[in-house]
Amino acid sequence: MTSYRCPKDGTRSDITALTWCCPACRGPWDLDFAPTRGVGANAFSGRTDSLWRYKEFLPLPTPAISLGEGRTPLVPLTDTVSAKLDFLMPTRSFKDRGAVVLVELARRLAPDRVVADSSGNAGASVAAYCARAGLPCTVYVP
Ligand SMILES: [Zn+2]
Repeated sequence: MTSYRCPKDGTRSDITALTWCCPACRGPWDLDFAPTRGVGANAFSGRTDSLWRYKEFLPLPTPAISLGEGRTPLVPLTDTVSAKLDFLMPTRSFKDRGAVVLVELARRLAPDRVVADSSGNAGASVAAYCARAGLPCTVYVP
């Protein structure tokens, strides 16, 4: 499994420590992982039609809780402008891409519950993926 790394001072922590921030500077953690390199375009043919099609580039490559997120259509509007139709994501938000990775990690760490703060669609997304994972979840909305 991956670990945490502080982008400010390089402090590292095992991900199972369940620390929410860097103890040295109180800044947020980054996941410390290196995506796989050298994956050819042909490697993606025949794969699932979701975010997990690109599993080599994600920190947790084998999810158990997918709702079919990712791979929304890119529709040309003009010769130089296209629209990514992320309202077609499972919770109608692009936040599903991050939420599925976050909740998959939470599922693996098996916490008593998940607590999130959100001003809207991120909370809805985290709640949906926690429901899928069977994790109790409380979202605080200002
Ligand atoms: Zn730090």
